[in-house]
Amino acid sequence: MSHKTDVVIIGAGPVGLFAIFELGLLNLNTHVIDNLDKIGGQCAELYPEKPIYDIPSRSRVNGQELADELMLQAKPFNPVFHLNQQADSIIKLDDYWRVKTSSNETILAKCIVIAAGAGSFVPRKPPLENIKEYENKSIFYSVRNKSIFKNKNILITGGGDSALDWTIDLASIANVTLMHRRREFRAAPDSVSKILDLEKSNKIKFVIGQVSQLKGSNGMLEKVEYKFEEKFSSLEIDYLLPFFGLKMELGPISEWGLNLNENLIKVDTEKFETSVPSIFAIGDINSYPGKLKLILSGFHEAALMAQKCFSYCYPDKKNVFRYTTSSKELHKKLGV
Ligand code: FAD
Repeated sequence: MSHKTDVVIIGAGPVGLFAIFELGLLNLNTHVIDNLDKIGGQCAELYPEKPIYDIPSRSRVNGQELADELMLQAKPFNPVFHLNQQADSIIKLDDYWRVKTSSNETILAKCIVIAAGAGSFVPRKPPLENIKEYENKSIFYSVRNKSIFKNKNILITGGGDSALDWTIDLASIANVTLMHRRREFRAAPDSVSKILDLEKSNKIKFVIGQVSQLKGSNGMLEKVEYKFEEKFSSLEIDYLLPFFGLKMELGPISEWGLNLNENLIKVDTEKFETSVPSIFAIGDINSYPGKLKLILSGFHEAALMAQKCFSYCYPDKKNVFRYTTSSKELHKKLGV
């Protein structure tokens, strides 16, 4: 699918979300790409329940609340989200950048704003020799279409919230085995007690061990071998869902010819533009003298970046600075 907009924002963390608002104030439309299946970046993924104390005017706000409210603030500007996909490549056409995502969507935009934090959240994969052969065919790191698992033999590995939540969820439609290195889990107590109940009533199987080998053909698993205390056993399965958490990786951005230093993108402090004109970097991903990796720094960077984006998108128009308290256009959008 192909789209056209003023600005593509890569990263729906707090800084990317605030950038939608700042660009929207200047009548610039945005499309936002994030590798995660939800908005909020580190706040929503790593510490949704933790209180943050240094967001101006909020004496305390937890990570998820902050993401939700930034979304509420951005909503009047109708951002289009492309979640669950990575920004893979960029190409400069005459007047536009063409951004291509891992789901083969293309977005044409005058400017690119990289708000990619410490990079994409990507799944930690088990170190199994031929795992690539099965990925996205019979091994999945997230569940997008539950119906393919109906009445199948599913092996879920891991001992955290995702492993337990999906075991509980899929137990009603599939034959689920949960495998973990030990009997103790690092998950919500309520999920742990549900798992114990399901095991007791034979609705799931629980196995202690670690998968050591994958066997199957044409990308479809037939069985896995697993190991516990030097003893090997096997299990017939159709699908494997490993849930070992997420890690952060800069990924494709490192190949875009930007001025990178230790995985950070150098920018100026007037407009937060990179070494490539019309590509900006804001939030945790950028570096400049005195940079503090704080959400409030990213908010300031977003405001200045937007001013320069305006001049790329409307080269013949003068940008008239307005406070939000007196912007009639904004009030119309907000219905106030
Ligand atoms: P992120 O929040 O990292 O979001 C970046 C997003 O970009 C991610 O969702 C990622 O999936 C996506 N992405 C990256 N590359 C791609 C790609 N190629 N394609 C698609 N998507 C991509 N800061 C404070 O100011 N105050 C605090 O009290 C505070 N407490 C913290 C507590 C913890 C436990 C942690 C981990 C951090 C804390 N921080 C705090 C730091 C704060 O969370 C970060 O500064 C902030 O999240 C940076 O926002 P961001 O939008 O720049 O990046």
